[in-house]
Amino acid sequence: MDTYLPLLATLIALLLGLVVGKGWERYKLRDGRWVDRRRLRETPHYMLGLNFLVDSQVDQAIDELTQAASTDPDALEIQMILGNLYREKGQVARAISIHQALLPRPDLTTMEHAYVLLCLGLDFRHAGFVDRAIEAFHEVLALDAQNRYALVNLQKLYEEQQQWNEALQVRERVAKIDSGRHPEDQQILGFLRNELGAAQQRTGNHAAAAKILADAINVDSRTAPAYLNLGDVHEQQGNLPAAVEAWEGLTEALPDRAYLAFERLERGYLKLGAQGRFVERCQRLIARNPQDWRARLALSRHHAAAGRHREAFELLLAALPYNPHGLTIHQEAWRALMALSLEPELVRRYVALARDAVFYLDPHVCTRCRYRSTELLWQCPQCHEWNTFVEERMAPAKDPTAVDMEP
Ligand SMILES: [Zn+2]
Repeated sequence: MDTYLPLLATLIALLLGLVVGKGWERYKLRDGRWVDRRRLRETPHYMLGLNFLVDSQVDQAIDELTQAASTDPDALEIQMILGNLYREKGQVARAISIHQALLPRPDLTTMEHAYVLLCLGLDFRHAGFVDRAIEAFHEVLALDAQNRYALVNLQKLYEEQQQWNEALQVRERVAKIDSGRHPEDQQILGFLRNELGAAQQRTGNHAAAAKILADAINVDSRTAPAYLNLGDVHEQQGNLPAAVEAWEGLTEALPDRAYLAFERLERGYLKLGAQGRFVERCQRLIARNPQDWRARLALSRHHAAAGRHREAFELLLAALPYNPHGLTIHQEAWRALMALSLEPELVRRYVALARDAVFYLDPHVCTRCRYRSTELLWQCPQCHEWNTFVEERMAPAKDPTAVDMEP
């Protein structure tokens, strides 16, 4: 998707040039003399090519622009666009050779040079030549340090290579350019720090991991996995109270993700001899959000483990309407009913509720590209954005295609 943007930007620049007429596009300084671009427009191919381009008719656009380019071999932009179109068609080798042929031109301005290198970087990335793509984008930045396309592409390449430190440094440069205009910057910086911290944790560098993970939360409190990882690091360091504090932090900052910390918290409270705190925490979550079926399920299991089956059962019946297809809720309900000797009135209430159960699709949906997943993902495998998944609202629905999205 983002490989298409430079193409659009070039196109818009061209169209602007056509409209302005007397602007940069019409006359360009080459070797100290002005070159007239009107020659291009004396044939219909240039305009036709642009029209086909706007219409996404790539093959026709290539035909017309190729003819236009033969009229005016100096027209750099047309060659750049032609290369980009071949890349979009999947003919990457051809795109590379067109773009590479532009580099030795003696009359390239710094900005033109940077653009040709940007196109080449995109070609290499498309072809899977990671090292050459990284090199090309760095060359763009050497000529044009503020080039956001080059930076974002570089960030994605480093992410794909799991070079989290490099990805983070590049994104910090993007955030500096954006200077607060793009709210997603903080979120991406948080998630990249979390990945970096998790990598440190895997190599056993606990002190460094804890610092980076705490930074991730400070940069953006929505970085849910950072709370879990930070707690895990503290636990590995033998500091259980600090671990519990980090996990509790998740339930405070992001109540809808609190369930990710339930198992850890229950274990931690047990070891600290403070099991009552687990009950309190679940009750607080339910009070804050009455639809929270996961907190009810967790609390129900907690009660069942202590032999409090009636409390356990009531919590399950309260959870069921918000997730009628939740197999674990049904299993726990049957376990509770067995423990309560299948008391007829309880069985009747359970059966009445279960009858309303409806079918649910994979509940997690990417808000950017609509990718669906059975489990919660922090980075979308389709559009590669961070933290874009929401859960479809757990409310009974007759038609699974008409389920509301959370705000
Ligand atoms: Zn997506």
